[in-house]
Amino acid sequence: MNIDLNRVKTVVVKIGTSLLTGPTGFDGRVLEEIVKELCRLKRERNLNLLVVSSGAIGCGMTALGLTERPKRLPLKQATAAVGQANLMHYYETLFRTYGEGLRSAQVLLSASDLDNRDTYLNIRNTLHTLFALNSVIPIVNENDSVATEELKFGDNDTLAARVAAKIGADLLIILSNVDGLYDCDPRRNSKARLITEVDAITPELEAMAGDTAEQTSVGGMLTKLVAASIASAAQVRTVIANGRRPNILHDTLAGQGVGTTFYSSCESLSQRKRWIAFGRAARGIITVDDGARNALIKQGKSLLAAGITGVDGRFRMGDAVRVADARNRDIARGLVNYSSEEIERIKGCKSAQIATILGQKDFDEVIHRNNMVVL
Ligand code: GLU
Repeated sequence: MNIDLNRVKTVVVKIGTSLLTGPTGFDGRVLEEIVKELCRLKRERNLNLLVVSSGAIGCGMTALGLTERPKRLPLKQATAAVGQANLMHYYETLFRTYGEGLRSAQVLLSASDLDNRDTYLNIRNTLHTLFALNSVIPIVNENDSVATEELKFGDNDTLAARVAAKIGADLLIILSNVDGLYDCDPRRNSKARLITEVDAITPELEAMAGDTAEQTSVGGMLTKLVAASIASAAQVRTVIANGRRPNILHDTLAGQGVGTTFYSSCESLSQRKRWIAFGRAARGIITVDDGARNALIKQGKSLLAAGITGVDGRFRMGDAVRVADARNRDIARGLVNYSSEEIERIKGCKSAQIATILGQKDFDEVIHRNNMVVL
C-alpha cells in the first residue's frame, strides 16, 4: 500500500550494532550524525520519533575492556547492564548538545512484556505519553540483562518491527551499514544490484537475503526481512537503508528512493488482531497441509484439526502460535483452543472425533478465525 510520506506522523528508527561499533569497540561518530538528523526532523516536522538502539553490549565491552563479544549468557547480561547506562549517557549528551531542549527517554523491553495484554497496553500508553510531551525521543532496547534465551526478541530488527506494529507507526527505518537488500552479496559480486522496492516477501527474496547476510550485525539481512514482514502486515512501511549515508533520514522521508522499501499490506488490522499477531511471542508452531493453507488464506476459514500435520513446542490453551505451511513458511498467527499435547493427539482427525479422543470437546476449531491473523 502506498503512504503519503508528507503525512507520516510516527517513525521508528532502528540503529544497528554495525553502526555503533568500530575496530576497537563502541564508536559513536555515526550515531552523532543520526542524532543531529533526528533533532532536525523533530524540529522541522514535529514527528513522533522513536529509536530502537543496539549498542548496550558494545558499550559494555568498551567499558569493561573486553576484546570480544561475550558468548555466554551471564557475561552477556552483565556486559549489557554496564553498557546500557553508558549508551544512554551518550544519547543524553548528544541530545543536550544538538537537541535544543529535546531529551531522550530509556524504555527497555522483554518479549514477555508484549505477551501480556495489560503490559502491552501499558507500554503503548507510556510511549504515546512520551510522544505527547513533544520534547522527548524514546530510546528503546531489549532488556538484555533480564531476557533469557527462551524469552527474548533476540535481535533488535524484530524488536523494532514489533514496537512499530504496536504503536501504529507509519514507517520503520532500519539503519545498518549496507545500502539495502541486494540480489546477491555485493562484496562478492560487483554486479550485485540493489533491490529498491518490494511488494511481497517471497521465498526467492529470502534466498537473496540469506546470500547477503551481513556478518557484523546481530540479525543479518534475513532478520531484517522478517522484521519487514511483521511491519508490513501491520500496515507499517519499512525502509532498509545505510546509516552512514549523510541525510539518510531526511532523504528517506522525502521519498528519494534510498535503500530498499517494503510496502505495507492493504489489510488494516484491528488493535486486538495486532496484539494477536505482534504483541505476543509465539510459543510453538502448528504445521498445516495445503488444503488447510488454502482454507485459511483464500477462504478465511478457522483452523481445524483435520488439516494439521505437525506440532512443535509446548503451549497451553490461549497461547499464541505460528501457523506454518509444509515448506515452513509463516502463514498465520493465532491463539489456540487446545494445548500442544492435545493437538498432537487430534491432528489429522475430523472435529467430530475430538470428543472421543480427548474425552471432551469444547471447540470445533483449533484456532478460531476471530483469534487468527493471516500474514
Ligand atoms: N540488544 C543488543 C545490544 O544492545 C543488540 C541486539 C541487536 O543488535 O540486534 O547490544
